[in-house]
Amino acid sequence: MPEPQAASRAILDQISALPPSSRPLVICDVDEVVLHLVRHLRTYLENNGFKLLKQEYRLTNNIAEKASQSALPADAVKRLLQDFLDTQSHAQDLVEGADKTLHALAEDWDVLFLTNLPGAHNRPIRERLLASYGFSFPVLVNSGPKGGAVSALSAGRKEPVVFIDDSPTNHTSVQASLPSAIQIQFIADEPFRSNMTQEAHVDFLTGDWADTLSFINALPRSGG
Ligand SMILES: [Mg+2]
Repeated sequence: MPEPQAASRAILDQISALPPSSRPLVICDVDEVVLHLVRHLRTYLENNGFKLLKQEYRLTNNIAEKASQSALPADAVKRLLQDFLDTQSHAQDLVEGADKTLHALAEDWDVLFLTNLPGAHNRPIRERLLASYGFSFPVLVNSGPKGGAVSALSAGRKEPVVFIDDSPTNHTSVQASLPSAIQIQFIADEPFRSNMTQEAHVDFLTGDWADTLSFINALPRSGG
């Protein structure tokens, strides 16, 4: 998809429903950042006769039937992931420390979740699960790369806007739409993270919420 992208109507409608605020903003992804995903996916694949071919941040061309070494076609991966999310997304574990750090940040920052959900039917399930872990931050549902949404969310906010997400695609998109954003690439899964190369536009690559809090607290802030 060409970057930078404009924000979709759907995301602009969700942004206009937020209470007005000029506080600085932390925009935080959910899967693999606040809720474990890869860990659950590994178990799901194992239980259904599949496996990851390589422990690296990639699903297309990286899932195979256990008996074979050949990657499933993209449409089969898509179906498998949809079934995984439909059957497992009510029970994703909290990433250790996410609640503590985000609540500490919320004293000075507005925190909101920006999540890509496959299927609108999963939204109430996700909101209930986040609430069960003590989160009451707004949940905005995006689709596709997040740059347009992050740029629209930043309007009228103090700099810097902080963006936390595991996906390299989303970080590339945010870099194109809002180069001033502080980009934290958070990947909870240790094998996936250790095989990730940090790109120049990523300010901090981590899988640790205490380190993330220290990093954000050390950021220079604009006045006011
Ligand atoms: Mg994610």
